[in-house]
Amino acid sequence: MEEHLKTIFDNITEFIALCDSDFNIIYSNKPADIVLGQSQSIVGTKCYSSFRGKSEKCADCPLVPSMESGTVIPLESFDERFEEYFEERAYPITTESGRFDGFVLMSKNLTKSREIEEKYAQAKKMAALGQISSGVAHDFNNVLTGVLGRVQLIKRQTDDPRVLKNLKMIETAAHDGSATVRRMQDFARLRTDEKFISINVKEIIDEVLALTRPKWRDNSEMHGVIIEPVVEIEKEMYMLGDPSDLKGAFTNLIFNAVDAMPEGGVLSITAKIYDEKIVIDFEDTGIGMTEDTLERIYDPFFTTKGVKGTGLGMSEVYGVIKRHRGAIEATSKIGRGTKVSISLPSGERVLKMDEVEIEEDKYLSKILIIDDEEYILDMLEELLEDQGHSVTTSSSTSNGLELFQKSNFDVVITDLGMPEMSGWEVAERIKKLNSAVSVVLLTGWALNLEAEKIKENGVDFTLQKPFDEENLYQLIQDAKKLKDQRTSDLS
Ligand code: ADP
Ligand code: MG
Repeated sequence: MEEHLKTIFDNITEFIALCDSDFNIIYSNKPADIVLGQSQSIVGTKCYSSFRGKSEKCADCPLVPSMESGTVIPLESFDERFEEYFEERAYPITTESGRFDGFVLMSKNLTKSREIEEKYAQAKKMAALGQISSGVAHDFNNVLTGVLGRVQLIKRQTDDPRVLKNLKMIETAAHDGSATVRRMQDFARLRTDEKFISINVKEIIDEVLALTRPKWRDNSEMHGVIIEPVVEIEKEMYMLGDPSDLKGAFTNLIFNAVDAMPEGGVLSITAKIYDEKIVIDFEDTGIGMTEDTLERIYDPFFTTKGVKGTGLGMSEVYGVIKRHRGAIEATSKIGRGTKVSISLPSGERVLKMDEVEIEEDKYLSKILIIDDEEYILDMLEELLEDQGHSVTTSSSTSNGLELFQKSNFDVVITDLGMPEMSGWEVAERIKKLNSAVSVVLLTGWALNLEAEKIKENGVDFTLQKPFDEENLYQLIQDAKKLKDQRTSDLS
């Protein structure tokens, strides 16, 4: 039995000691001897000396609150000798007559579990922020759709150059707004795209460096500082990804590095293959960050640059890397610089497919639009009727479905979020009534769904708000073609 107990005590990671009432250790387990006694037995030493490296009793001795309260109260402390956190527990021992006779002291290293806790808290925070941002983005998209649609309509009603110029300005502002919304959605959207292609790492980095040259070269030289980019890439390597998303992410990382080096410095970009992953480090010799800043860099809208910053750069990078099933890690030292390390799946070299030619024929369609927002209905109706289509609208889903049964439609456009029933349900019911008709789901949300899943739900196309007239035009053409093809397949 005693053998077994010893085996148990010596094979767990906690440090355990039995102490007498005078704080002398009278038994210790092997891990305690190895770590606290540096491989010497700690029996015969005082607990405060071995467990804490102190020469007298600890002011925060865990025994005291446990004795006073009658329950064992764990105590966290930072040990400067090991630079790690420990949790101590003292279990008092009393004789049958109730006299205090010593205690069992247990200590365990908390560093690992703290790290896990922090990672978990970070992940939870990111998920919550993602939800908030996608909600805000959705509402904003609806507003911008209204603005842009109206601008297109007024543009057709006037030749006055001053009005046209002002409209152009509204349009530009709305597009800028929609670009900001897209960056927010980029952060929140965690769907992985199947459009990933094989990308030559050196080529894409060279391209991004050339594109950002005005920032790191011309702008810096104007202020008399020199920023020296150094690129080191072991050999030819390829990764799988979306080139335009990755270019955006790399651009953000380079901009941040340059912003961090107002007096100039070295920006080094190195890429290597590690464990079938492509690891790319962006390292600068800039001002660095405090731990507090480092913890918040991925939060949307967190910036230390005042009005000059948007705080969307790193959150965008985070979204892009996560979507590529990659990982990102930043380390930083104040006054020394920052290293952001990203890892992405590697990809074999593949040939790009030729772009499919777009046919120019114009098909006219009979369209039913269901949306609970009147201003979106009116706007779509006007835009589509101007293109020659015949349009029926309904602001309620039940009425919309009734209208559908009365007439022969080619295309149904339905909003996603409506009070009576969702766009998915509308799509399902439409398809039950007529499986050939094309269904377009209109949404201000960045859909976290794969193409397959969307099709399974009876939706043939999705149209993201806000949209351009050209997008809409092309989409309706495709929808009509699909419907005609399905009709001829059925007959
Ligand atoms: P922005 O650049 O608009 O401030 P980002 O999301 O790109 O927004 O970055 C957020 C914050 O993270 C920055 O304001 C800065 O405090 C910090 N940061 C990011 N990259 C670096 C870097 N390379 N060096 C120092 N600080 C950085
Ligand atoms: Mg930035």
